[in-house]
Amino acid sequence: MREFATRKAFITGITGQDGAILARFLLDKGYTVHGLQLYSATNDTERLTQIRNNPRFHLHHGDLTDGGNLHRLISTIQPHEIYNLGAQSHVKVSFDVPEATANINALGTLRLLEAIRGTDIKFYQASSSEMFGSTAAPQNENTVFAPCSPYASAKLYAYWLVHNYRDSYGVHASNGILFNHESPLRGEEFVTRKITRSVAAIIHGTQTELTIGNLDAKRDWGHAADYIEGMWLMLQQDKPDDYVLASGQSKTVSQFITAAFACAGIHLEWHGEGT
Ligand code: NAP
Repeated sequence: MREFATRKAFITGITGQDGAILARFLLDKGYTVHGLQLYSATNDTERLTQIRNNPRFHLHHGDLTDGGNLHRLISTIQPHEIYNLGAQSHVKVSFDVPEATANINALGTLRLLEAIRGTDIKFYQASSSEMFGSTAAPQNENTVFAPCSPYASAKLYAYWLVHNYRDSYGVHASNGILFNHESPLRGEEFVTRKITRSVAAIIHGTQTELTIGNLDAKRDWGHAADYIEGMWLMLQQDKPDDYVLASGQSKTVSQFITAAFACAGIHLEWHGEGT
């Protein structure tokens, strides 16, 4: 722990799944952690309950769409590492709010990179496997991107910015191209939480049915805590780079549902065909 006691990290998206898990991970290593909290009238910091009172944990109001604010915060905090996890992170929602998605996910990254240009602050960019879009699996760091949503397109712009700032200004900036990763802190609108919450509700008798879209859709699901360690390891390397993090196994939504019910002691049988 002493090894990292002098280190400061700045995390955008601190109230999200990954931000909350990463903050805990870094605090355990001895870091001082500063988080960017988007102002909200509901002030939802539930995921941060366990670390809220840690003297090495600090929250700052801010917004990835506000460059001046980001610049001031970074100048004041002077972090050693920045983890840019803040995003409009829902693919489907990005079709409803494409401009906002681009402003936060793409230009937000530009604002941060501009703020650290000429410094030796290490930068992690939360890139996404969604950038691979329609390309055939399995993909790796050399696969051509073919984004299929405003979310993925915005993430791809940010991905290339990381390359530009690395090549043009020598910034230690790395892309973590992460496949889906889940935990009990995952947002409730994502399919894994929708399923696990429904299993719990059905068992407790408050729900009778689970309604789901395409049962045959496949995803590579990993555990968020493993991927968080991967993010940190990327910034511990001498040179910046791009890394794909995945479990290497794709499972269907129906397999996930079967496994979720099995965890609750219920054996499911599937009848019929098609989605
Ligand atoms: P998440 O739970 O949706 O968290 C997103 C965070 O971004 C929240 O803290 C949110 O704040 C914040 N945010 C939204 N708009 C913002 C703005 N304008 N300025 C500053 N912050 C803003 O996402 P996650 O699952 O932790 O994922 C973390 C990052 O990894 C995201 O960039 C995501 O796109 C990317 N990623 C995730 C996965 C995955 O499977 N989880 C896979 C690949 C890539 P509020 O809580 O106030 O809304």
